[in-house]
Amino acid sequence: MKNFFISGILIILLLTIPGCLKKKNYKDESQRLIGVKVYQIDRELNNLFEEWVSLGINTVFASPSVFSDEFKSLAQEHDIQTFVILPVFYDPATLDADPDLYAITDKGEKAIEDWVEFVCPSREDYRLLKTEYILKLIRELDPDGISLDFIRFFCFWEKVYPDRNPDSIPNTCFCPYCLERFQSEKQVSIPDSVRDSGSVSGWIQTNHIEDWTAWKCSIITSMVEDIVTEAKKLKPTIKVNLHVVPWRKDDFNNAIKRIVAQDFPLLSKYADIISPMTYAHMVKQEPAWIHSVVSDIHEQAECLIIPSIQVNEAYLLESLSLEDFEQSVTEALKPPSSGVFFWSWEQLESRPEKKEVLKRVLISFRE
Ligand SMILES: [Zn+2]
Repeated sequence: MKNFFISGILIILLLTIPGCLKKKNYKDESQRLIGVKVYQIDRELNNLFEEWVSLGINTVFASPSVFSDEFKSLAQEHDIQTFVILPVFYDPATLDADPDLYAITDKGEKAIEDWVEFVCPSREDYRLLKTEYILKLIRELDPDGISLDFIRFFCFWEKVYPDRNPDSIPNTCFCPYCLERFQSEKQVSIPDSVRDSGSVSGWIQTNHIEDWTAWKCSIITSMVEDIVTEAKKLKPTIKVNLHVVPWRKDDFNNAIKRIVAQDFPLLSKYADIISPMTYAHMVKQEPAWIHSVVSDIHEQAECLIIPSIQVNEAYLLESLSLEDFEQSVTEALKPPSSGVFFWSWEQLESRPEKKEVLKRVLISFRE
């Protein structure tokens, strides 16, 4: 009886421990990831890698065109891990060739705002082709990881400021394919009278917003699941990073799920890192907001959370000062963050004094 009792306690302990370990953080300083996003390189590579090491950079996110043989062997030599940046539903060339693929807003218009234009995320043909393309790049470039960008529904979040009315952010995708798929997968039937009156998007948002949001999230999560499953068959050690919209769960009336359909508890099952694009200056927030976004996502997710921060101003004319940058780096590194990524290396190159700030803050965090 006593043995039975002890075994019972052991089983309970074993069942509890994985739950306790669910929240992930870097384990020691050597695991903190300091990364840069690079889109184009115009300088001698050996010298560049030396500089990255001197700055404490141990991770590079690069466009496919940056992945030369020399780039890869130098990365290995300098112990820098490489992720290839892969936009998923942002694909202007494909939209140009096949405009039927455009996502459709609640106003019945193509999902286009400024340079941002989105493919409808539910089209199976497109999803299969994109997955094949990603597998081809993994075969050819052999990166340590994949970094999925634009893995969401349409939104020009870069210009969504704190005072924005949540109802004014366009909801998508109300194309015929999505409407059919939503109805069949959620057992919802749009009445003919609603179809005839042309108010389908309003009817869905008024009567079935929870089903609609859950369905949208399932479309994005299943795309991540498909890509990651296939990528791991090809390269079992491959790491997965997701670029996500920097919204906390209650921001803009649940817009992180309702609008862009990024469901962090579900997505984190397939990712090693979730990286919110906490470009504070761009979205008119203070540096301390970076830490609050990281903490909010960390509460919801099982994987590492590492914010990406901007180096220079973007979209807005007011410059991003050295002090502002230093505060942002400091906020980005506060636990539960497991590091910081910089958008972008090109921006750091243009402001060398910000490299000095980076060095100084990293040293202070190591002490
Ligand atoms: Zn659609």
